[in-house]
Amino acid sequence: MFSGLNESNMAELQAVRGTQDLLPEEQRRHRIVAETARQIAETYGFQEIATPIFEFTEVFSRPIGEATDVVSKEMYTFVDRSGDSLSLRPEGTAAVARAVLSNGLTQSTPLKFFYSGPMFRHERPQKGRYRQFHQIGVELMGPAQPQADAEVIALGAHILERLGVLKSCILELNTLGDSSSRQAYRAALVAYFTQHVAALSEDSRDRLTRNPLRILDSKDAGDKEIVAGAPAFDAYLNDESKTFFAAVRQRLDLLKIEYTLNPRLVRGLDYYSHTAFEFVTTALGSQGTVLGGGRYDGLMPMIGGPEMPAVGWAGGIERLAMLLEAPSPPPRPIVVIPVGDATDLAALALTQELRHAGLPVDLGYSGNVTKRMKRANKVNARFALVLGEEELSRGAVVLRDLDAGTQTELARDQVCQSLQAILA
Ligand code: ATP
Ligand code: MG
Repeated sequence: MFSGLNESNMAELQAVRGTQDLLPEEQRRHRIVAETARQIAETYGFQEIATPIFEFTEVFSRPIGEATDVVSKEMYTFVDRSGDSLSLRPEGTAAVARAVLSNGLTQSTPLKFFYSGPMFRHERPQKGRYRQFHQIGVELMGPAQPQADAEVIALGAHILERLGVLKSCILELNTLGDSSSRQAYRAALVAYFTQHVAALSEDSRDRLTRNPLRILDSKDAGDKEIVAGAPAFDAYLNDESKTFFAAVRQRLDLLKIEYTLNPRLVRGLDYYSHTAFEFVTTALGSQGTVLGGGRYDGLMPMIGGPEMPAVGWAGGIERLAMLLEAPSPPPRPIVVIPVGDATDLAALALTQELRHAGLPVDLGYSGNVTKRMKRANKVNARFALVLGEEELSRGAVVLRDLDAGTQTELARDQVCQSLQAILA
């Protein structure tokens, strides 16, 4: 099968388009985002949950909707060796809802979950948009009260604030009303867009019959012009929907969470109602939404569960990581440098002793003292412990302060305490 390949024409192996390796500095940023989010979510009573990265395709196709871009174009779907149709998860909410059902948790509401992990969508890769990307997210399931919407938005704002990115974000807020308001609005939109159907993009013409609200979210320039003249949702909201939205806004005002109303804001997925929101930044070009969510009262019944109102959001870790200020570097290590082969074993023993005391230690594998000192520089070491045969035979080691350029002798059996004292 590979007979045509030899070393000169064998293609270099690349990561799949839209995926990326997270080298240590980037991974460090990702970890800061996920860890900060998890810690703050815990102070709001949200516990971390992890679901599999693939599910039966139906888990996503039923609630997200066959007509959405996510399911019709973006999902990584495959038939496995047992003949089941499986999909890599494009988002977390449907999977968490499935987990609530599978684990019989529907009676234990309110349920408050935090998650973070990879998601997969076959999109056109660009800055801030990948085919494997990572999300943090929260789901609050059970409460129908606007208090829950406000709390979930406040949690998102709190995390962005702690990450230092809230100041470069605007919170956009809208209501999608309850289902009867949405039906009335939908009819008005269909009537309006039908008048302009010839000028709509192909995608939007497609959405006109299946999911007209999504046209409002179109990124096509021509569509945007038509959308600008579309009827606003306001006129179609019933009293119940208006009261709910007013209550959410009252709570955001109370918490001094600033927002702008965006009547064109719709969420990409089908199962949303009432509150919809996005934290958007101008610092990342067109991939500006860093965190978005809303109320999804309709989801549970769509996957065969009971009525269960819920509200949540998901944030893009890659986009948040790009906005972070430079993260603090890893702790500066101590390097242990054996001089001559005979001190190798002593070096390994000392290294482990220090590591077990919680000190970061780098032990080189080969080379003379000069080469090892170069390595010490490269890893930005703070101290070097030099183990010479003569010193060791006297029960001593040399401690070199690499910043000051000075050195002292320490008793071998005092090294650990001495270093801890110096570093404290
Ligand atoms: P967009 O309008 O940017 O496509 P979306 O509405 O599809 O976003 P959601 O499904 O709400 O996004 O996902 C929540 C967040 O996850 C987004 O706000 C964004 O920060 C991030 N996100 C979504 N898709 C991608 C992707 N392909 N690559 C990187 N991050 C993404
Ligand atoms: Mg999208």
